[in-house]
Amino acid sequence: MEPGTRDLVRSRSGGRCEYCLIRQENLKLAHHVEHIIARKHGGGDEESNLCLACERCNLFKGSDLSGVDPESGEVVRLFHPRVQSWAEHFELRGPFIAGLTPCGRATVRVLSMNAGQRLQFRAALIARGRYP
Ligand SMILES: [Zn+2]
Repeated sequence: MEPGTRDLVRSRSGGRCEYCLIRQENLKLAHHVEHIIARKHGGGDEESNLCLACERCNLFKGSDLSGVDPESGEVVRLFHPRVQSWAEHFELRGPFIAGLTPCGRATVRVLSMNAGQRLQFRAALIARGRYP
């Protein structure tokens, strides 16, 4: 990865995970510079293929590119933070991240965005005015 690319990814995201929106300052573990299309699928280190992801989102996403929309059962591509808009695909309902589209719903599921501990943690952050 080019020197400075990591800094660019961190700064353009405002220090937030580009999937679940959690801020770096609220976590001990450093957010990862994530390959949206994993190297094993031909993705490279170009800025257009990189995003900032918290450790949890990055771990659950792994090298996945697609998931199953729980409403339709269709296989769909996961959310791409560089070419898609968060607000079109997701909505916050308190600490709960709702998927609004097949892509959003599949991404919420694959990344396990509403796992119990994650919901509790976001609720605690909301109570302190630190999320989103
Ligand atoms: Zn995240």
